[in-house]
This record gives sequence, structure tokens and C-alpha cells, in this order.
Amino acid sequence: MHRVRLYPKRSQAERLEFMLDVTRQTYNALLDERRYAWTARRIRVTTKMQYAEITALRAEDSRFAAVYRECVDAVLHRLDLGFAAFFRRVKNGETPGYPRFKPKARWKQLEFPHGDRALKLDQEQKWVRIPGVGTVRLRKGRAIPDFGRAFVAEKNGRWWASFECEREPKALPKTGKVVGIDRGVHVLAATSEGVLIGNGQHGERLRRIVSSHQRALDAVSVKDAKGRCLNRRDPGRIAAARRLARAKEREANARLDGLHKAAHKIVKSADVIGLEALDVRAMTRSAKGTIEKPGRNVAAKSGLNRVMLDAGFGTFAALIREKAEYAAREVVSVDARYSSQTCGRCLHVDPKSRRRRRFCCVACGWTCHADVAAALEIGRRAEKQRISELSWARTPLTTHDAA
Ligand SMILES: [Zn+2]
Repeated sequence: MHRVRLYPKRSQAERLEFMLDVTRQTYNALLDERRYAWTARRIRVTTKMQYAEITALRAEDSRFAAVYRECVDAVLHRLDLGFAAFFRRVKNGETPGYPRFKPKARWKQLEFPHGDRALKLDQEQKWVRIPGVGTVRLRKGRAIPDFGRAFVAEKNGRWWASFECEREPKALPKTGKVVGIDRGVHVLAATSEGVLIGNGQHGERLRRIVSSHQRALDAVSVKDAKGRCLNRRDPGRIAAARRLARAKEREANARLDGLHKAAHKIVKSADVIGLEALDVRAMTRSAKGTIEKPGRNVAAKSGLNRVMLDAGFGTFAALIREKAEYAAREVVSVDARYSSQTCGRCLHVDPKSRRRRRFCCVACGWTCHADVAAALEIGRRAEKQRISELSWARTPLTTHDAA
């Protein structure tokens, strides 16, 4: 996905708002029709029927006809996906939510299923031509590669275009290295090379800006005894809410950008990347830290802090996997249990070796940053696991297998 900021003129932004309105109303109307036909008359309205209805409606209603056809078709497709997910969950015996009507606040995106047909860029990629809107100026940046599906979306008062691109896999040169990545207790992640990955250079500053906007919003909000806001529509409050939303967006962007860069460095640096196999560790960690043995790291591991770190690590691991795939690097999933208690020199396993941020082996005295020590162990296990997998693959068929 390639995302570019758009600078529509006021009139163009109004056209885009209009297209959002019409597509949203279409979605709600199509949903309502299906719902009513079923509850009142037990009739199933099909996609094909609704497709024909859209065609008829376009012939009659100029407002409706003004919106690019494929954007409306995409709405129908989106509704289909919603229903398919709903019926799948019904079938699996889960408790599904019926597809819901979309309020304005939750409909911010126009989809162009064949974006390359609909959106035309000029040679220098300074402008993009959006059907029904005109030529909209683009932020200068990296070149937009060939794309298929595309989106135009509004977020906190600003407009963006996203282009779905097929990237050609590009193998990176071999480095002969194996790297282990650990989900850190004190930082987001640590690598066996000793790199600690946190919230980035500007993380703390941006976080402070967010909380100052939060305080400003609280100051202008009027609340009743139950904490419900009484002046939601007050212009001053709306402006403060938007400033807070933008600050949060900026912080999230900076964090994601930092993770992209860190993931890129890791993928570039090693041929084989060891990552913990997910579910296993998550369970043992929370149980270990809190119930069985409330160890020293409990505070850091528990509560909100841990939830945030875990969510961040999930994103980070997904980025590494994605980049590794394009670069023809190998990702090995490792059982990470006790990796944080294992010595990097003598392999002695003991929970007492972990002393807050330091690892200090009770058997041989080796010391290291605790999270880096765990990453080293994960790297070691990844290498071991890979060698055993390779030798397994090379083993010739035995007579038993051949028979
Ligand atoms: Zn040791």
C-alpha cells in the first residue's frame, strides 16, 4: 500500500464529501432492503438484484449518477463481504453481529476497485485525476508504482490516496548471519545484535503532546455526574477533539515509521530471523509473572504497559515477516519458553539469573542486557531448529518410507 497526501481545493473536498455521503447512503439503503425483505417477507435479496437496482437508480437520480459507478459497486461488494462474514460466524456457532448501518463518522473511505482505470496521474505525479472531482494536487514524495485497487480517504480533516501495489520480490544479498528477536520486557523488542527497539526518537515528546491535548480537551468538556459529555457539538470542543486526534495520528505515524525502519534494518542484516512462535509465550509469560511466581518483573509485565508492548510487538513481527518475504529471507518460529532465563555463555537455565534489566548468570557470571540475552537465545534456537529442519529435508527416503 502506497499512501500519499492529497490537497483538494475547497470545492473538490466538498465533492469528495458528497461522494462519501452518497456511497454511505447507498450502503445503508442496500442493507435496509436486504434486512426488510428478510424480516418482513422472508425474501432473500441477491447481489445481482441489487446490482440491477443500482443501474436503474442511476438512470433516474442525477445525484446518484454523479458518483463514479465503480465506487458504488465497491459498496455493494463491501456489503456482500459483511454478510458473508456474518453467515460464516453463524455457521460456526459464534455470536455474530448483524451488519450495521454506517453513521457518518464511520464512513471515511471511497474505494476504486480498478484504481488504475479510474485514477490518472500526470507524468510528474503532481496531480491525480479523480472522476467526479477533478485534478487534485498530490504531496511530492516517492514515486507511485503501478497500482491496482485504490482508495481515497479522509482522516481528521485531511485527505489521502492509497494505492495497492504489487511489489516484485527482490532478494537481498546474503550476509551469512542469523539474528534473534525477543519481545522485550523493558523495551518493545531486542535483537541478538544488541539493538533495543523502543518507541523511537520522538516517541516521548509526541506522547507528551498527546497528553497536553487530552488535558486541553478535558478542560473544555462539560460533563454530567455520570461522565457523559454535555457539549459534544460545541465548536470549541470539536476543534480541541480534532487537535487531539491529529496529535494521536502523528504519534502513531511516527511509531509505525520507526518500526518500519527497524524491521528493514533487521531483514537487511541477516539471512535467517528467529521470532518467537506467538501464542505459546504469551500464555506462559502472563501466568508465570503473576500467579505462580510473582517475580520482579511483574510490574513491568502486567497491566496496560504489557498490553501496549504486546500490541506493538505484534505489528513489528508482522512487518518483519512481510519484509522478509519480499527479500527472500527466512523467518524461523521458535518456541521461546525459558529463553529469558537461559545463559548465553554456559546455557544454564535459572530464573534467578534475571535481575531486572540485567541478565547475570548464577552459574558462570556472564552478564548482558536481559532482553538482549533472551534475543541471543532465540537466535541460537532458530539456528539449531533450521539445521535440524535442513538435515531432515536432506535425509534420503528409508526403505520403510519408500514401501
Ligand atoms: Zn552462564
